[in-house]
Amino acid sequence: MAKQGIGAAVKVAAAGADALRPSAPGLVILIYHRVGGHTASAVDLTTAGFDAQVGELAASGRLVTLDEGIARLEAGAVADWPVVLTFDDGTTDWVSEALPVLARHRAPATFYVATDFIEARRPFPGEGAPISWDGLQELVASGLATIGSHTHTHALLDRVDGPSAAGELDRSIDLIGERLGVTCTHFAYPKALLGSPAAEAEVRARFRSAAVAGSRANPSDGDRYRLHRTPIQVADGLRWFRRKASGGMRLEDSARQLVNRRRYAQAGS
Ligand SMILES: [Zn+2]
Repeated sequence: MAKQGIGAAVKVAAAGADALRPSAPGLVILIYHRVGGHTASAVDLTTAGFDAQVGELAASGRLVTLDEGIARLEAGAVADWPVVLTFDDGTTDWVSEALPVLARHRAPATFYVATDFIEARRPFPGEGAPISWDGLQELVASGLATIGSHTHTHALLDRVDGPSAAGELDRSIDLIGERLGVTCTHFAYPKALLGSPAAEAEVRARFRSAAVAGSRANPSDGDRYRLHRTPIQVADGLRWFRRKASGGMRLEDSARQLVNRRRYAQAGS
């Protein structure tokens, strides 16, 4: 309960900070993880909640594919706040819960997959049943999905050397190509943590874009290999979701990164 209280206070403070320093228009990229609300995860939205969010964005006409979003960035055409939906990791609910909603609203989305979990049928932490390659194929067949890489083993790339990073990236690109017959051109860093300089060089050599943390809109002169993304949590409801879809809530992201850094420092490796 105390934890939830702190979260809510940070959301209110973040909204206040937005009002003082509004963001310039840009490309907003939202991060989802799971849909269905079947687990206790803070990022497992109810299907109805997800449907309300996607429905609102689809009706606004702002939803674009990741490729279109990047093309808009490069053309400097982001004044109308385009929005890209993205998913991380790779759980079964992507096809059972998220896909019907996306299909109903004709909403495109990018799915960043940590391929080892799919290939080895290994569950994600927090009761995350891994999606199958057939399930991913179903997403591809819908015509709405872009499949991206999220490394092979969900490896944090901030402390690895170039060859280790290259191995993670190539394994995931190869599996996506072999199993799904698609070329993987987009990447999202696990835990939204930017890679070491050597790892980042490997990412830049292989992909058209890469995403980190940020909770803010991407300006047209931004680096497409350090795209900001905004995580959507169950606790956001429609109220904070709307703020996030407008490029707001930067402060919440700063608070989360601080907590994450402390956690890693305490873990000591
Ligand atoms: Zn992840």
